[in-house]
Amino acid sequence: MTKSSLNFEPGRSAPLYRCRVLVVGSGAAGLNCAEQLRLAGVDDVAVISTRRLGGTSYRSGSDKQTYYKLSNFGDTLDGPMEMAHSLFDGGAMDGGLAYIESLYSLPAFYHLVEIGVPFPSNRYGAFVGYKTDHDPRQRATSAGPKTSRYMVEKELLRLKSLGVPVLDGLTAVRLVTAGRRVLGLVALDENRSEDDPALGLTVFQAGAVVLATGGPGELYAVSVYPAGQVSLHGAALEAGAAAVNLGESQFGLASTRFRWNLSGTYQQVIPAYFSLGPDGRRRDFLAGWYRSLPELAGAVFLKGYQWPFHVNRLDNFGSSLVDLAVGAETESGRRVFLDFTRNPARPGESFDLDSLPPEALNYLNRSGARQADPYRRLRHMNPESIAIYAEHGIDLREPLEAAVCFQHNNGGLKVNADWETDLAGLFAAGELAGTHGVTRPGGAALNSGQVGGFRIARCLAGRRDELAGRRPAAPFQAALREVYRTSRAMLASDREQGRWRRLIQERMSAAAGFRREPERVRAARREAEADRRRLESAPPGAAGRRNLARAWETRNLVLTQLAFLKSIDAYLQSGGGSRGSGLVLAEAAVPGARRVELVGGRSLCFRPERPGDRRLRVAVSGPAFTTSLEEVAPLPRDESWFETVWADWKAGRTCGGGKRRRR
Ligand SMILES: Cc1cc2nc3c(=O)[nH]c(=O)nc-3n(C[C@H](O)[C@H](O)[C@H](O)COP(=O)(O)OP(=O)(O)OC[C@H]3O[C@@H](n4cnc5c(N)ncnc54)[C@H](O)[C@@H]3O)c2cc1C
Repeated sequence: MTKSSLNFEPGRSAPLYRCRVLVVGSGAAGLNCAEQLRLAGVDDVAVISTRRLGGTSYRSGSDKQTYYKLSNFGDTLDGPMEMAHSLFDGGAMDGGLAYIESLYSLPAFYHLVEIGVPFPSNRYGAFVGYKTDHDPRQRATSAGPKTSRYMVEKELLRLKSLGVPVLDGLTAVRLVTAGRRVLGLVALDENRSEDDPALGLTVFQAGAVVLATGGPGELYAVSVYPAGQVSLHGAALEAGAAAVNLGESQFGLASTRFRWNLSGTYQQVIPAYFSLGPDGRRRDFLAGWYRSLPELAGAVFLKGYQWPFHVNRLDNFGSSLVDLAVGAETESGRRVFLDFTRNPARPGESFDLDSLPPEALNYLNRSGARQADPYRRLRHMNPESIAIYAEHGIDLREPLEAAVCFQHNNGGLKVNADWETDLAGLFAAGELAGTHGVTRPGGAALNSGQVGGFRIARCLAGRRDELAGRRPAAPFQAALREVYRTSRAMLASDREQGRWRRLIQERMSAAAGFRREPERVRAARREAEADRRRLESAPPGAAGRRNLARAWETRNLVLTQLAFLKSIDAYLQSGGGSRGSGLVLAEAAVPGARRVELVGGRSLCFRPERPGDRRLRVAVSGPAFTTSLEEVAPLPRDESWFETVWADWKAGRTCGGGKRRRR
């Protein structure tokens, strides 16, 4: 990477860095992508990040954070197309990407093993898997509660040894384009913003830019993402990229003081749930949602791997009623807690392990987890899951506050089979890439993030010679002038950015959470449109130069919010129904409404998904955030013939083929 400076106004200049590929974001996806680029022979790669250890990968997890890959131990029968089916059958997922993610899942996984991520193997060297959500083949594995943190730590060491710079405190705020090509970006350097006459503005010129800025955790008030995680959807759309499936997110039970998923063992030990009202009265509310104590306990158990909330798990007193029950309590102003010192209770019944449904009983018996209370069962099966809370000053023998939280967005920027967006030279990897469909197996997010890095490296290695060279200065100068002018307006604005952020979060949690009503979504969308119009006249106020990057993030959040709401609204207005983690509530009288029976003669009505919509996804394109419904590509039939593949490869007709070189 070289450094010079660029004048953008008389007497005002910004540092200018040049490199072949710039990766934005230092989560598991961005770091791996940088490493793969170097290994594929692309020199001169740099990573910039708002916070080197700030993303979801470093700061989030669960009882056993899951990594999803092709099953390859013992006599489990699996294959790439079989796994691709599991991904594709979740709905609205591109068939080509499903196949690629399956094919690359083993190389990506073994690469992690090679760099030292501690995935357990047996004495034969087999990485034995377990079944995760929507997984028919025991494809899940885990390095414990902190799988993705280990991935970040090991990748940082790799990049250090490869000499790839990872620059901290740099927040990308605006992409620089010429026509439909990305030339680089403008970032804010928080280390310099206070003293620099140009407010810390910094320019990066690159042959290609990889955005790996993660998910938009800050969009929702009730969120299990690490606080402060915003990502860059809005700015990418503003620059002309497209996004898909933004309305498809995962919502599930998580603790709120220390943000952590309450999946897996936390539920399989069957803790008691209770709520507290403003009057301090305690209520075992789940008793009102299930017909018997064994049914209630069985549902809590299943929540362990039937996590997150899913509309298909409501019938027959299914496990997703737990989420609905928790949501109903919190919406009515009560706080919900898990109590690991008590077994669940229901008036007139007493808890007995041997009365549990066979699946739960068998699991606990096989795990030797017949201890008297949930805490002891947890300590027996997964002491690490207790230790992680202890590290944050929380004793799981105390009630643990929980809510149904925004946890993952399955959509993101639209990418092709090389993870390149609609803008030439702009790639997306990790959670920002819109690679998933409606429903995905647990652990597929981490796999997809790794696979993207391999594909991008393979593609850019094939374009190595085009990546060098100077870009015209004029588009960068124009972008700098615009960012400088807006930054000045932010410093002068009295519209407090933190307050604006909270309004967005409250609006999103109320209208676009796991329960959705078309009219509410429409109203929220209108408010979001008004928010966007206000950006010009009254941008988010920075209240001091140190906060400038936060104000830019809030600006980005305003745009991201609009893209999400337009996407959900377009789907609902087209007649789209409940799918994945999105339950579309309906009046009983609405034609086609489905009814789920609840305890005590109550019922719940919702709009079901139309079978014809299974392959439909909503796309949002360009600066006007235009929405359209599009059909995803089917799963490919890969009947390739070795001799022709070989010839194509040698001629460089497959991206990166023939010219690939490893170092
Ligand atoms: C509680 C929880 C549990 C999860 N469990 C699982 C699981 O078991 N299995 C699974 O597969 N997935 C799981 N996920 C999802 C998975 O962890 C994430 O999708 C994944 O870690 C995202 O990685 P990433 O590299 O894309 O982004 P991140 O790790 O979020 O990294 C983003 C990076 O970009 C930087 N950044 C952001 N904006 C900018 C900007 N404008 N300029 C510069 N830098 C920027 C950030 O500072 C950060 O370094 C879980 C998520 C949560 C919240």
